[in-house]
Amino acid sequence: MTIIQNAINGQRVTSASTNRVPVFNPATGEQSAELPLSTVEEVNSAVAAAKAAAPEWGDTPSLKRARYMFKYLELLNKHADDIAREISKEHGKTHDDALGEVQRGLEVVEFACGIPSLLKGDYSRNVGPSIDTYADRKPLGVVAGITPFNFPAMVPMWMFPVAIACGNTFVLKPSERDPSAPMLTWDLFQEAGFPDGVLNVVHGDKLAVDTILDHQDIKAVSFVGSTPIAEYVYQRGTAAGKRVQALGGAKNHMIIMPDADMDKAADALMGAGYGSAGERCMAISVAVPIGEKTADTLVEKLKPRVEALKVGPATDKDAEMGPVITKAHKEKVEDYINQGVASGADLVVDGRGYSPQGYENGYFVGGTLFDKVTTDMSIYKEEIFGPVLSVVRAKDYGEAVDMINAHEYGNGTAIFTRDGDAAREFADKIEVGMVGVNVPIPVPVAFHSFGGWKRSSFGAHGMYGPEGVHFYTRLKTVTTRWPEGIKEGAVFTFPS
Ligand code: NAD
Repeated sequence: MTIIQNAINGQRVTSASTNRVPVFNPATGEQSAELPLSTVEEVNSAVAAAKAAAPEWGDTPSLKRARYMFKYLELLNKHADDIAREISKEHGKTHDDALGEVQRGLEVVEFACGIPSLLKGDYSRNVGPSIDTYADRKPLGVVAGITPFNFPAMVPMWMFPVAIACGNTFVLKPSERDPSAPMLTWDLFQEAGFPDGVLNVVHGDKLAVDTILDHQDIKAVSFVGSTPIAEYVYQRGTAAGKRVQALGGAKNHMIIMPDADMDKAADALMGAGYGSAGERCMAISVAVPIGEKTADTLVEKLKPRVEALKVGPATDKDAEMGPVITKAHKEKVEDYINQGVASGADLVVDGRGYSPQGYENGYFVGGTLFDKVTTDMSIYKEEIFGPVLSVVRAKDYGEAVDMINAHEYGNGTAIFTRDGDAAREFADKIEVGMVGVNVPIPVPVAFHSFGGWKRSSFGAHGMYGPEGVHFYTRLKTVTTRWPEGIKEGAVFTFPS
């Protein structure tokens, strides 16, 4: 049985913890590895390694830091397929989807290669007689990241390349469900030649997270995961005096206007609703067609598509969607489907009890489509995080917008229309952080920044891009006077 190791101070080390959890292959239901839940001492030793490496790394010229990133980028490109295989094995997503995940993570490393230009300061000459001021962004020191299961390679790469290129050292606590992809990205990081201790990985659960949140040597924490944990991490981390950015769950709506190309809208909903088995924080889980005719046409077009969805293991090249992450999660998703039926929604396509031949012990749920869902139902209000798409019919555009604005989450949203005026008004007024116009999953590219609104995000900064640089640096402003003012003797009043 493979034992998942930690990575501390440039070495892979086996945890001494006897408290271990299994890692499964969700397509087969078989255990593939065992993951020790690190002890407080092990987390502390990762932080100590990061702390020891921080002064020298922070003083390394930013161009030199970027050169390590270029080397890392080269290795990630070379091993993209290997990383994707590790993702699929433990997460279950298809190989192409896993490659897409690696690509999006890689793009943040590309961004990090150019960070020196974003670390440039501001300079003002003669702000007073013979006085000049310059402002500069400094690294924080040791920072940490806590990440979810659904993007085991990409979400860590939203964080550590930016933090490290800014001159910080990093402690990563990945999801305990799919730890092998982050470990491979750590191996490649070391191979790129970064000094020991710059990036450390500790596996664990709540104990490891709490140790990170309370640790006085960690100056900032980035978190991505479910909303209750995001809120908890934000509160505990900020109470301990840290900067915290904590991204949470989502319920993303897509409005389909009567003038939209209905085939394109249906195709977009297939990818956005069922890709990665719906386990994406930017998945569309609610389709909102405007008017009865639009709704009837949309459901008519979606039904055969959902029925034809090819669900299978990542090793099946034809599979469009894999299993969900755990047995417990499969049961939870199926229970939501039961709740939808019980509350009176129309179950158009039922994915319960689905299992591809030869994978009877896998955690598969078939593509599921509900129509006539209403906003009081649990399947509308809560994040299911599975391959379940709900159609909520709205009588007009205004009702759809009010519905989205009233939802507790505000991560992503989209509108499908040919009407520029409606699209512009939607993008301007909707209370959601990331908006797509005829784009179903509007994840910002690496040189913009990612972040939702409302209960999808706690803290002030988005991930990666310029917001990431601001999160991982602090401003220092220096005012200088050389040397004439001093020659004339001390001044005890503010100059007027
Ligand atoms: P999760 O909240 O269960 O776990 C996330 C991290 O928190 C893991 O590292 C886990 O070990 C840790 N954790 C879990 N329980 C904890 C506790 N009680 N105390 C301290 N730490 C704890 O999330 P998940 O199931 O791994 O991921 C799915 C969730 O992540 C979904 O809600 C999804 O929407 C969200 N997500 C959000 C974004 C975003 O950008 N907003 C991106 C990806 C995923």
